[in-house]
Amino acid sequence: MSPLTHFAASWVLGAMITRSKRDCTLVALAGIAPDLDGLTLIPDIVTSFGSNPHPTQYYARYHHFLFHGIIGALTTAICFTILARDKLRTFMVCLMVFHFHLLCDFVGSRGPAPEDLWPIYYLGPLNRDPMLIWKNQWPLDAWPNRIFGFIAIGIALIVSIKKGFSPLSVFNDRLDGHFCRNLASIVAQIRARRSGRGL
Ligand SMILES: [Zn+2]
Repeated sequence: MSPLTHFAASWVLGAMITRSKRDCTLVALAGIAPDLDGLTLIPDIVTSFGSNPHPTQYYARYHHFLFHGIIGALTTAICFTILARDKLRTFMVCLMVFHFHLLCDFVGSRGPAPEDLWPIYYLGPLNRDPMLIWKNQWPLDAWPNRIFGFIAIGIALIVSIKKGFSPLSVFNDRLDGHFCRNLASIVAQIRARRSGRGL
């Protein structure tokens, strides 16, 4: 699934399970951490410029192999736990969202061609065994991913209203405050209209 969907779903779980904004931020970032190995696309793009006859193929070789496994999960959870307030809870939730990301990729991260399946190498980068692959894996831009993305963002908005902070708090507190005030104002207007109709 797209990084935005992974991020929204992880933030929702973080906001619901952790007890501070800081720990929620760490959990949200843990949910997109597996895609760090997607940065291997950068040298591929750089080396494909011009008339280079041998551009690198790192993305095809290493995406889903370097960080989409238990080593990536433990590395992420341990690093973020050091920064967390509620350490045990954050460690457990980081592991949970990391594995939720792996599950989502396992079912819905296929490329455009039917044979373009993306396996999960759970022991990567140490070993390519076991290679977890599902032959019914749907494409990255398929409707289940879009629906799940819309649902995740919708729930994130509802949780933002309840909690008073939103996924934007991961990046900038001022921007988040501005967004949440506007969101609260919209909700208040909708409620006022509804109660006006009820009179
Ligand atoms: Zn991924």
